[in-house]
Amino acid sequence: MAPPHPTNKRKTTDSVVSPPPVKRSLQSSTTKSAVANFFTPTSQKPKDRTTWSERGPSDDVPATLLVGRYVPEVHDPKQPPKKKIAAFDLDSTLITTNSGKKHAGGATDWKWWNPQVPGVLRALYQEKDYQVVILSNQAGMTLHFDPSYKGPKGNAQKRVTEFKQKCNAVLNNLDIPTTVYAATERDCYRKPRIGMWKEVCDDYDILQNEVDLENSFFVGDAGGRVAGLGRSSQGVVAAAKDFSCSDRNFAHNAGISYKTPEEYFLGEKPRDFARDFDVADFPFEDADASDQPDLVFEKKNAKDIVVFCGPPGAGKSTFFWKYLKPLGYERVNQDTLKSRDKCIQVAKELLADGSSVAIDNTNADTDTRALWVEVAKKATVPIRCVWFRTPLYICEHNDAARAHNKSLNPESRQVLPKLAFTGFASRYKEPHLKEGFQDIMEFEFKFRGSKEEYDTWARYWI
Ligand SMILES: [Mg+2]
Repeated sequence: MAPPHPTNKRKTTDSVVSPPPVKRSLQSSTTKSAVANFFTPTSQKPKDRTTWSERGPSDDVPATLLVGRYVPEVHDPKQPPKKKIAAFDLDSTLITTNSGKKHAGGATDWKWWNPQVPGVLRALYQEKDYQVVILSNQAGMTLHFDPSYKGPKGNAQKRVTEFKQKCNAVLNNLDIPTTVYAATERDCYRKPRIGMWKEVCDDYDILQNEVDLENSFFVGDAGGRVAGLGRSSQGVVAAAKDFSCSDRNFAHNAGISYKTPEEYFLGEKPRDFARDFDVADFPFEDADASDQPDLVFEKKNAKDIVVFCGPPGAGKSTFFWKYLKPLGYERVNQDTLKSRDKCIQVAKELLADGSSVAIDNTNADTDTRALWVEVAKKATVPIRCVWFRTPLYICEHNDAARAHNKSLNPESRQVLPKLAFTGFASRYKEPHLKEGFQDIMEFEFKFRGSKEEYDTWARYWI
């Protein structure tokens, strides 16, 4: 059967087939306590115990992190900070929709993922001395639109209100000191990146080097599980592949252990999981300690052109600065020169001045490389090719690691859109000697940097 179409048509059908929603929600929300509450003077009403605030990655950009801190009515604020953190994802981990839909239909469309959940969380705080926190990616919400943004705003801000109302109810029900963090943009806060973890430590006065990492843990449903068999109330059933591995990767980045909700709350055995990119496959190699030279690029000609071929994030610029610049090569790069014509013009001038040049662009296809072969011919110099055979998933990782870390980003590059990688793949043609190259040097990717740089690189950034 064809999957249902996610069109407006379907929404219309839903609303026609379902019982009138207005009447229904009126019935369910007007409880005895709500009526009693209405007649209670404001001064005697229970205080809304969740305080909401917003934070940004820096002072120069609008806030993107929504923070709701709950303090119970009976609470000793002078308690010493806890060293153990029990962190939980929200959707499909602590709660699920009541309607059975994938995304919550409104502020009241929620129930506990499992009836045991609130009790388990309370026991962690009250009996096991854990600080309990909730860390959620909420890319469907927008806290602040850029003033220049003219596109559709959809329900992004209505969702913020509904999300807060829903969390107020969840936290009220839980009634332990805790905070929910919601990352609304693809920035430093979004899991698997650990911006929210740092906020937790700050907010609860736990020095980052004093967190009991061994006993702290994170539970979330995005575990990169492959399709297989899982359990349900009906017994063993087919279980779908997880939509992402960001929760498991977040725990890795924070240096704490990870469990799926099924493992943590129901005691199920772990299912198999797979990562597209696993940092464990790229252990640190200390180039200084190795007796084999890593890579040698030797100058062959007094003056020539070296043309690079490889996707963004393959390590082309790093290669240039590390190996070609010391040999006297000048760099021609379209990101800085803006157009290909400008690149060709600058390359010609450099050659005329007596310099060798390296073309630090992706040069994905034969036609683009032919332009450089032509420039070499006219200048009567040889042309060589360095071919970066880095798989695209590593390139995407490198690109994100670079964009999110000043220390790895000497050129202050922004994270590239997915199209930069898929576009390369669609244009890509392997380079061949017959195109006119003197030689083609194949360059296999491995991390070439200091241990300190490696420790940053070897986290999950996407
Ligand atoms: Mg989730």
